[in-house]
Amino acid sequence: MKKISIVVPCYNEEEALPYFYKEIDKISKKMDYLDFEFIFVDDGSKDKTLEVIKKYVKKDKRVRFVSFSRNFKKEAAILAGLEYSKGDYVALMDADLQDPPSLLEKMYKLINEEGYDCVATRRVTRKGEPPIRSFFARMFYKIINKMSKTEMVDGARDYRLMTRQVVNSIISLKEYNRYSKGIFSFVGFKTKWLEYENIKRVAGKTKWSFWKLFVYAIEGITAFSTVPLVISAIFGLILCFIAFILIVVIIVKTLIFGDPASGWPSLVCIILFLSGIQMFSLGIIGQYLSKTYLETKNRPVYIVRETEND
Ligand code: UDP
Ligand code: MG
Repeated sequence: MKKISIVVPCYNEEEALPYFYKEIDKISKKMDYLDFEFIFVDDGSKDKTLEVIKKYVKKDKRVRFVSFSRNFKKEAAILAGLEYSKGDYVALMDADLQDPPSLLEKMYKLINEEGYDCVATRRVTRKGEPPIRSFFARMFYKIINKMSKTEMVDGARDYRLMTRQVVNSIISLKEYNRYSKGIFSFVGFKTKWLEYENIKRVAGKTKWSFWKLFVYAIEGITAFSTVPLVISAIFGLILCFIAFILIVVIIVKTLIFGDPASGWPSLVCIILFLSGIQMFSLGIIGQYLSKTYLETKNRPVYIVRETEND
């Protein structure tokens, strides 16, 4: 019998986990032609998530877990889950039932019968989300798709079913700054996209504040595009060109009309403008430098405190 691993990153999900477990257990009984394995990755939760997981480990031998020494963020949890999984197929799923487990059967059929390597999902609506957030999310996808050669799908969720081959390719990307949406797209393979309406989380709260999403967006751009560096270089070139023309104009004007120097307010504005652009460009370079700095340190993406074998 083929094995399927369900990887679930969990951070403070004590409220949602019981619903999730009940649901996935139901699906696994329905799909009895596959051997199930559930891998809960406890991402340094501060509530009783780990206790809840351990309770499941005791009563269900299909349940395995990895518990981090602190919160390493979802990207790290995803990597850990994929690395620990043993299945021929691996599904990645949130613990809050925003990724409907009922889709699993259809996803498996697509891989098994139609020869896809990977079935990914995207939500077509952003119902139940603040409008401002949706607006910025759309903007982000427009911008990043212009900047990056790796395609980022608007509304793509991390919910997906993959073959072992795809999972191994994802694990083989050893970067420290992991931006999963980009990594999934980078490795390629025959991918089928399924669409569904946004579903509200079953219990608990979202871990994403607006600020966190903003930082995540910047991370995505720096991880998969170097276009911002080019932009700052182009800025510099354009300004040099303008300055050159102005110098010529001023010299000619002084020679012909003998104009006395005047206009310090405009000078102040120009200085402010230029130093603004300089700081902006420096900031962009700084972003890339800091990422390079973190990569060269070669730190582990996550540190494990406990697994089901301990
Ligand atoms: N999560 C995680 N580590 C974190 C934040 C979130 O493992 O630092 C998990 C969380 O438990 C959930 C999934 O990532 O299973 C998605 O999180 P959330 O529902 O808060 O995000 P949203 O669905 O609102 O984008
Ligand atoms: Mg969620």
